[in-house]
Amino acid sequence: MKDKILEIEDVTVSFDGFKALNNLNFSLDVGELRVIIGPNGAGKTTFLDVITGKTKPTQGRVLFKGRNLRSLSEHQISRLGIGRKFQTPRIYLNLTPRENLEITSNRQKNVFATLFGHSSSAERKTITGLLETIGLSANADIPADKLSHGEKQRLEIGMLVAQSPDLLLVDEPVAGLTDEETENVGNLLLALAESHSVLVIEHDMEFVRQIARQVTVLHQGSVLKEGTIDEVQNDPRVIEVYLGQPLEDTASELEHSSWQLDAASEEVEINIGTPK
Ligand code: ADP
Ligand code: MG
Repeated sequence: MKDKILEIEDVTVSFDGFKALNNLNFSLDVGELRVIIGPNGAGKTTFLDVITGKTKPTQGRVLFKGRNLRSLSEHQISRLGIGRKFQTPRIYLNLTPRENLEITSNRQKNVFATLFGHSSSAERKTITGLLETIGLSANADIPADKLSHGEKQRLEIGMLVAQSPDLLLVDEPVAGLTDEETENVGNLLLALAESHSVLVIEHDMEFVRQIARQVTVLHQGSVLKEGTIDEVQNDPRVIEVYLGQPLEDTASELEHSSWQLDAASEEVEINIGTPK
């Protein structure tokens, strides 16, 4: 059996009796890249919240490298090696990409020491390598507010990596990106997956197809289906869940999804349900 970096055992999260997560079971292998999909309200954000400790399970256990996270604070969990990228980039716009990465990889030192002090040559090398990985070498020394939206997303992924977490949690990294940037971010996540375990929440089905080996579908706080992207898209229950919800909801949440477009136009043959 492969080593598990993350195990979620029978986790329920109740908000005033409403179960945002309902007896959820899930596990992730060390080094695995997994994509989580699911309709609006399925529990995806809550799922990330119980991993990072922002929300504690009402019932059940979350284990990271075999360790129960129950009694740990968000900060302690992050120090154990879980990093989370939120949907909107949280970068310092007035600093350059290089400075953003330097600050993140030096959380212990204060910001001014990082900016005006001397970084070791090992540190500089790591940052140069990271800039290359995220494709920002050429723009490393311009203010980050001059970067495109896609470049900002890649910078923030780089900042996450600079904290050297073992598990990366990434929430909708390609929302609002051009096709070219979507592909860049996909390639970046694939590169990172060679040395990290990665959990991505995503709606854009073309993107999911680009990066996913295994996909988990959440619905009403539980796992509805797990499998390859083809298995998932051809599962009648998955199709029903996606097509069954009001189109307005679907449209607003899945704005950038080819899946949504098909659902809305009821032309399901491209992405859902029909074996190729
Ligand atoms: P998703 O990210 O898949 O859209 P969420 O995890 O945000 O779903 O939410 C799952 C369900 O739990 C939704 O119905 C949402 O309204 C509800 N929910 C989430 N957080 C809270 C909260 N703090 N209090 C009450 N209900 C919540
Ligand atoms: Mg959400």
